[in-house]
Amino acid sequence: MGCSDLEGFSEVARDHAIYPRNYGPLDDFNGHARITGPCGDTMEFWLKAQNGKVKDVSFITNGCRSSLACGSMATCLGESKDIEEVLNLRQKDILDALGGFPPEYEHCALLSANTLKAACDDYLQHQHEHPTKSPGTQKTCDTCGEKDCSASERKKDESEDEFRERQQLQSRLCRIRHKIVVLSGKGGVGKSTVAVNLAIALMISGKRVGLLDIDIHGPSIPTMLGLEHETIQGCEDGLIPIELGEMKIMSIGFLLRNQDEAVIWRGPMKMGVIKQFLKDVVWGDLDYLIIDSPPGTGDEPLSVCQLIGVMDGAVIVTTPQKVATVDVRKSITFCRQLHVPVLGVVENMSGFVCPKCGEVTQILPSGGGKRISEDMGVPFLGSIPMDQKIAEASDQGEVFIHHYSTSPIAAIMQDIIKSLTALDHMAILK
Ligand code: ADP
Repeated sequence: MGCSDLEGFSEVARDHAIYPRNYGPLDDFNGHARITGPCGDTMEFWLKAQNGKVKDVSFITNGCRSSLACGSMATCLGESKDIEEVLNLRQKDILDALGGFPPEYEHCALLSANTLKAACDDYLQHQHEHPTKSPGTQKTCDTCGEKDCSASERKKDESEDEFRERQQLQSRLCRIRHKIVVLSGKGGVGKSTVAVNLAIALMISGKRVGLLDIDIHGPSIPTMLGLEHETIQGCEDGLIPIELGEMKIMSIGFLLRNQDEAVIWRGPMKMGVIKQFLKDVVWGDLDYLIIDSPPGTGDEPLSVCQLIGVMDGAVIVTTPQKVATVDVRKSITFCRQLHVPVLGVVENMSGFVCPKCGEVTQILPSGGGKRISEDMGVPFLGSIPMDQKIAEASDQGEVFIHHYSTSPIAAIMQDIIKSLTALDHMAILK
């Protein structure tokens, strides 16, 4: 990274970057979190809290000066505060306190705020006598309640091989706490863009995330993440997903030598490859698996919902026009038939952000996503305007929410993930 010259740092930021406060682990801590951001920097926070008040807080990072400055300021802002106040600490508070910071490193403040919050969550979980070390570590099977469920009974009409295959699938799925599919009625509405940004937003809030691209005819996730030259390696336990920060990614795009190979694939072949993605990929323990499905309600979304069995929910992406929202009805009906809860509808490309002044203009009729949500009785999660920076970021293999973390659109995306993190809270309360 190129921030060693500290250009654009205020005096305060400079001081924290060169002499970071509260650096190093705490011996006696009761809250801890470690998050690696998409840039590859890792932040780790420790805190000692008593009676809901943070007494001591410290951090380390392998990032450069900007990470040091932000981590250091976060510890100063967190010290001697009520845990609730620390939970509300935002990226902007850290940046304001630093008083002048290069925009290209503002994401370090987000990573610091999120890691400190995750350490508070860890403390609160212990307080509430949930014996998990970090949210989601203790994954239990929905059906058997066991950590590594592979002992379910053989079905009457099942061969020995089929039974073994099902056990293998189940033992992978049991270790994934929440499975979420991202759907759209039409192509080109921004479904993959939403899937990628939601997955990264979850990762930078401290969740262990997997991203599975099952768009067999047009896998775009590798390009969007700048991973199109990656190839998949195998190990004894299966296929090793590609990692970005701590996020695990699998896409048919990593396996095909060229895009034309999959064009003639029919239903059973698609089902086979999707099963392999779920059963043979070494996902490990995950809090969330975000599945980017091709548009429509065809073989791929059907296969993935059937194979997973208990899907936590679907996010449906649409554009505001009436023609696109008609297809949303089909997606909602599809979810209802398969008993997949609809977490909500996202209206993408809703208005246009002027690249000069930032003002949003409604160039097309808007509000279609909201109307259809109300009509069909499902939550409306938010509207994302059309912004040149989103398109540029995905063409350049950069993640919008990471590179423009302080933009109003990043805040909208952060809001959308609340409906996904709410699943985690519901699971804790169960
Ligand atoms: P889908 O998965 O629905 O086919 P994509 O996510 O691949 O759609 O998006 C299609 C194109 O539109 C991509 O080039 C993407 O960068 C761009 N795009 C998506 N959402 C937006 C947005 N809100 N503003 C600008 N460009 C967008």
